[in-house]
Amino acid sequence: MLAPSLKNERAQYAITVDARRRVIADATVVVDGGRITHVGKAEELRDVAAERTIDATGGVLTPAFVNGHMHISYAHAVRGLFPDDFVGRDRLREVFRLQSAMTEEEEYWTSLLAVIELTRSGTLTFVDPGSTRYLDACLQVYAEAGCRVVTGTTVIDLDSDLALPRCPTAEALARTDGFIRAYDRRLQGRLRAWAMPFSSDTSSSDLLRGCKRLAVTHGTGMTIHHNGGSTRMLEEVGALGSNVLLAHAAGIEDSEVEAIARTGASVVMCPSTSLKEGSGLGKRKLPELLARGVAVALGADSANSSNYLDAVRMMNAAALGFKDGRLDVHVVPAEQAVEMATLIGARALGLESDTGSIEVGKSADLVLFETRRAEWRALLDPVNNLIYSADGRSVRTVVAGGRVVVDEGRVVFADEAAVADRVQELGEGLLARTRTRVNSGRWPVE
Ligand SMILES: [Zn+2]
Repeated sequence: MLAPSLKNERAQYAITVDARRRVIADATVVVDGGRITHVGKAEELRDVAAERTIDATGGVLTPAFVNGHMHISYAHAVRGLFPDDFVGRDRLREVFRLQSAMTEEEEYWTSLLAVIELTRSGTLTFVDPGSTRYLDACLQVYAEAGCRVVTGTTVIDLDSDLALPRCPTAEALARTDGFIRAYDRRLQGRLRAWAMPFSSDTSSSDLLRGCKRLAVTHGTGMTIHHNGGSTRMLEEVGALGSNVLLAHAAGIEDSEVEAIARTGASVVMCPSTSLKEGSGLGKRKLPELLARGVAVALGADSANSSNYLDAVRMMNAAALGFKDGRLDVHVVPAEQAVEMATLIGARALGLESDTGSIEVGKSADLVLFETRRAEWRALLDPVNNLIYSADGRSVRTVVAGGRVVVDEGRVVFADEAAVADRVQELGEGLLARTRTRVNSGRWPVE
């Protein structure tokens, strides 16, 4: 069913992220059949008719945001469980212990709450790096929310201290192949199924090579948790390439930046996770990767590691974290932060032709910020205010493929308060069932 035509009229600014990176003052954007049909000055598009018109006066229009690494399920049930200093491998072991205990019902409701949080702050495209176990239950959420999802099934074939389902190489490859065949291009093409070996230290070279081969055969992609020191090995086994997205890329060196650029692979970094773990965000090679033309997306990782899913705060963390870490105000300017969460992020996911900018012909994936609010004024430079003053709570309208999914700040596909209550209840049940001690922080709770 096609969405009705829609006119966003008289936005104070539209940040298009088009080829010329135009910021249009007094802008109108019209969509029809789920696609953008007109982008321009309000005056010039005054006579273009649409079935619904949104008065965007005092608003800023942007492309919907892209999140390149988002463990979508589970975390909302136990958010805030880990104290500040519970980090690294200890935290990961606990994450996977809890996640492996999730029921289908828990996964459905936590995924729904995560999608509500993402959508309400303007994100419509995300990569779930293979951690969803009951995808069929979650497909309903994705269908109603209108989001665009890259997903897969995590496979490992080496020993690990994490509660991940290890299986023989041939079986891991068969599972990957079956998953891609079953799910790729579902949801009218909005779902892409990728190969998702968990990491290079839990995957044999045969598994890595095989996963990459499956991604090529099926015309899809592959993502993997990536650490510095393993880039050369990935290149040697043929597991890098233009359809590969490396997650985190912590601790990579300049020679590894070169290998990534040479092979055309993409990277996703999670600035808020790095900052929260005190792991030296500013030392990461993000500016060097971008300078070499590598598409770098931003990711929110998980609601229990970063912990927010708000793309605006994520962009802010990237823009500030690298300036501070490098003691250099020239790195990651506001415009570059916007690019990573929109067009460049979409490029990293192989979705650039469809989303990531406000251009005629692209999917109508749009965000309208309400800027008649204290944190947005004075509004002199919309990119500057978006990155340094605002956050996702000022999102007024979100349009997904031409369909309004956030209207006056509320998602239209679910009752947020009711879902929040349900997840609270399920989370308490999960903690009790898994005999997990709840750390209530440093202050007494009475
Ligand atoms: Zn991850």
